Amino acid sequence: DIETAEKPAGLLGRLVGRGSGSEQRRTLDDDMLEQLEELLIAADMGVDTALRVTANMAEGRLGKKLSAREIKELLAAEVARVMEQVAKPMPIYAHRPQVVLVVGVNGSGKTTTIGKLASQFKAAGKNVVIAAGDTFRAAAVEQLQVWGERAGVPVLTAPEGSDPASLAYDAMTQAQADGADLLLIDTAGRLQNRADLMEELSKIIRVIRKKDETAPHNTLLVLDATTGQNALNQVEIFQKLADVSGLVMTKLDGTAKGGVLVALADKFALPIHAIGVGEQIDDLAPFDPEEFAAALTG
Ligand code: GDP
Repeated sequence: DIETAEKPAGLLGRLVGRGSGSEQRRTLDDDMLEQLEELLIAADMGVDTALRVTANMAEGRLGKKLSAREIKELLAAEVARVMEQVAKPMPIYAHRPQVVLVVGVNGSGKTTTIGKLASQFKAAGKNVVIAAGDTFRAAAVEQLQVWGERAGVPVLTAPEGSDPASLAYDAMTQAQADGADLLLIDTAGRLQNRADLMEELSKIIRVIRKKDETAPHNTLLVLDATTGQNALNQVEIFQKLADVSGLVMTKLDGTAKGGVLVALADKFALPIHAIGVGEQIDDLAPFDPEEFAAALTG
C-alpha cells in the first residue's frame, strides 16, 4: 500500500551494504539478483517483469564485481530501454474533428486528465470541445464544466441519467459544425456492471462512427499509478471494452510505486502518452523514460 511504498532508491544502498558508499563493490551473483528482483517487485514491477529486467541486466555480467552506482546505472538503463519503446505523445491528426474517447475506472483521474488535455490543446491553438459523457455522475459533469471553464473550452452536457451515446452523437454534430480540431469524450467508469459498461461504450462508438467512420481516432485509457498491479487488470478489462490506443498514467507525483509502468510497458507495449503529476490544470507532463528510470532507481 501507499504508506509502505518504497522505491528501489534507498534499498539499492542496502543491497550493497548498509552505510557503504556508492563505490562499494559486490559480486553480481544469483543471490544479488534475487535481492534485486525483490526490490523491483516491492516497487510494483510485478514478478514477470522484475525477472526479465534483472535477467537482462545480468546478461554477460554474472560473477562480475560491481559498485552500487554501477548497479543503479545498469538498472536505470534497462528500465529506460523498456520504457523508451512506449514513450510516445498522443498522435495528432489533420483530420477534423479528431475524436478522443477517454476511458477508465471512476477515480482514476479521467475528468482531471480531460481538463488538462483540453487546456494543453487549447494553449497550442486548437479548437477543443469536451463532451461530458458520464451522464450518470452529476459530480463528474459538474467537475468537467469547471475544468472547461478554466481551460476556456466548451463542455457539452446532457440531462442526468440520459443516454451517453445520444450526447456523443450531438457532440459529433456540433464539433463537425463548429470545425473543431478535437473532441474529447468522457465516459462512465463503473466496472461493477461490466456488461452494461461494455454495452454503453460500444453504443457510443457505434454512434460516433455513424457521424465519422474513422472515429474515434484515439482511445485513451486513464490509469491511477497508485493502484499498483491493479492497473494491469484494468488494461485487460478495457482492452475488451474498447480499442485502447494509449495510456495516461495519473498520480505519479505522490508516493506511487511507478514500477507498474514498467510492468505495463513490458506486458502490453501500449504507448504512454502523458503522466499526471498533480491536481492542477498544468500538471500533465510528457512521459520521459530517462527521467522516469532515474527516479525509479533513485
Ligand atoms: P475520475 O473519477 O476518473 O474522473 O477521476 P477524477 O479526475 O475526478 O480524479 C480523482 C481524484 O484524483 C481527484 O481528487 C483528482 O484531483 C485526483 N487526481 C487526478 N489526477 C491526479 C494526478 O495526476 N495527481 C494527483 N495527485 N491527483 C490526481
